[in-house]
Amino acid sequence: MNTTTVTTTRSKQLHERARSFLPMGVTGDGRYSSPYPIAFSKAKGKWLHDVDGNVYLDYHGGFGTAVLGYAHPDVDAAVQKAMQDIGAFVGVPHPYEEELAERLCSLIPFAERVALCGGGGSDAIYHAVRLARAATGRTKIVKIEGGYHGWHSDVGFSTRPSLSAAGDVEAPRAVPNSAGILPAVAAEVLVTTVNDEGSLRRLFADHGYDVAGLLIEPVVYSAGCILVDKSYLQLTRELCTQYGAVLIFDEVMSGFRAGLGGAGAQLGVAADLGAFGKAIANGYIISVVAGIASLMTQLAPEGPVFYSGTFNGHPLSVAASLTTLDLLQSQRVPEQLSKLGERLSIGVNRTIRELGVVATCQTFGSIWNVYFGTPSVRNYRDLARSSGPETERLNDTYRVYLRDQGIYMHKRHVNRCFISAAHDEADIDRTVAVVGEFLDAHRKELTS
Ligand code: PMP
Repeated sequence: MNTTTVTTTRSKQLHERARSFLPMGVTGDGRYSSPYPIAFSKAKGKWLHDVDGNVYLDYHGGFGTAVLGYAHPDVDAAVQKAMQDIGAFVGVPHPYEEELAERLCSLIPFAERVALCGGGGSDAIYHAVRLARAATGRTKIVKIEGGYHGWHSDVGFSTRPSLSAAGDVEAPRAVPNSAGILPAVAAEVLVTTVNDEGSLRRLFADHGYDVAGLLIEPVVYSAGCILVDKSYLQLTRELCTQYGAVLIFDEVMSGFRAGLGGAGAQLGVAADLGAFGKAIANGYIISVVAGIASLMTQLAPEGPVFYSGTFNGHPLSVAASLTTLDLLQSQRVPEQLSKLGERLSIGVNRTIRELGVVATCQTFGSIWNVYFGTPSVRNYRDLARSSGPETERLNDTYRVYLRDQGIYMHKRHVNRCFISAAHDEADIDRTVAVVGEFLDAHRKELTS
């Protein structure tokens, strides 16, 4: 096994200074890694340059935003042009937003209207959940155990519950993921286990007429990469229709990657509402609620559901989105990325089989995740059961090994990685080889 070790002294120094002024020296929970996070000075295409001068092949993709690769010149040029044309921001209608709205309604099968938001995916989810409640006059939201839908209280439950807190797999408890969430909110959240059709049927039989909306990622990337059975996704559609609940797809991570209509469209199921973000603008800040007209027209000022935000429809982000969508479409990026994702998972899974280790590489489109200590992850419990301190240590060792070989994977509770249009087959093959070296070196831990 190749054992170079990169030096990251400047990252360490920067972190020590930042700790005095930022919570744990970072700007959000997902940015810290022990003993200190690597700080970056430049990102371009598939390359990340850290403050110590190390260069890495990147699989973080700016939390999945950089679908075309970092700092894509055409997207940046579109932003500069918009800045010269109309300026950074005014806050009145502008032609770009109409163009983007029309484009999104033509790309997303169920979208008849869209609402542009000025922040991240959490903003879009927030509006979608409130819209579902307003339109149905009901309060309860069904969510998938292990699914993350943003930082706000309405959905801040059972994102990574401990097995001891999570309760019965057939009727999991709603476990808050943060201090400070009002206890009363927990009563409005019903948690279920993905790919378990019997549990979902029972949940709706018991509570269906109280359910305002069912919120699900068509591929549960929040927990790495859990594939949702087509029949399960179809069942979410059928039950929502039968009980008059709103089906909400969280496409914040999946949207504009596996296909331009979302992962739900790839699986042939149409939601009533969808939340999109991340990849749509290749790193610029925007998110979107898309949906059927009868729901979307409930948004203010057309309807009674308040919808606002200073930076909604920000012209620079909208310009970035238009060019990103042009490139994704004209260069058939989703197809190209899916082929790379498949090449990678075939390669890694072949090594796993040959070595006889207990691990799996799961992929859908351009997002892939290697899980250790389990042959398959079909729901959050499979992940949680294989996530003891030993697996956590192995995940950390894996990440540091990749880094020492010049490959950057961001620290999370899972080993999720994003491929971008800047990656090519040679990058994938090199990555497969490095992951294989790691698995070989840790064969003993992964077979016992
Ligand atoms: N939904 C999903 C599936 C996500 O992955 C995220 C962010 N990781 C969000 C919602 C929240 O998006 P944001 O952090 O941009 O608010």
